[in-house]
Amino acid sequence: MNKLPFIKGGGLEGEYVFSNFHFHWGSDDSKGSEHTFDGDRYAAEIHLVHFKKDYGTLANALKHKDGLVVLGVMVEADDSDNESLQSVVDALEEVVELGMEFHPDYSIPLDALLPEEEDRHTFFRYQGSLTTPTCNEVVTWILFQTPISLSSSQLAQFRTLIGQDGLHHLQDNFRPIQPLNGREVVFVDTGNY
Ligand SMILES: [Zn+2]
Repeated sequence: MNKLPFIKGGGLEGEYVFSNFHFHWGSDDSKGSEHTFDGDRYAAEIHLVHFKKDYGTLANALKHKDGLVVLGVMVEADDSDNESLQSVVDALEEVVELGMEFHPDYSIPLDALLPEEEDRHTFFRYQGSLTTPTCNEVVTWILFQTPISLSSSQLAQFRTLIGQDGLHHLQDNFRPIQPLNGREVVFVDTGNY
């Protein structure tokens, strides 16, 4: 576990160890993100899931209110390809059918999933839940204000994947917007860049 990347600071108590990243996307470029900024939806959203180091495992961290931190990165559709994420897009071809696995013999730098370094100091933060069942209320969400981009053809590659029924294309795999329920969303500018 020592070798795994972790995050700290930005108002977090303790260290959070990287567990996985995944994407949410739409059936076209007009939707796909799980969060909206001032009502604006993005074409996709990347989640980098981290669990609190003190809790040892992701499964154990799910039992604690401060168990998880998810970094969210909005993805906007662009005309030109994002070359630094092309290896992720290429890998999609290897897992089109349900149950397929692909173990790349190359590494994907997590850096490529984040906004440029000078754009990482502004983000929104709130206490929320997992966006998939069982929707545990254990997540500190950190959503970078600055999106990254993928081209429309790169985004289209995500929509070729076959979903859990083994028949239909996997798309619109985002949770609808939820009521705030009194949650406070804080805008943070750490000023560090
Ligand atoms: Zn997610």
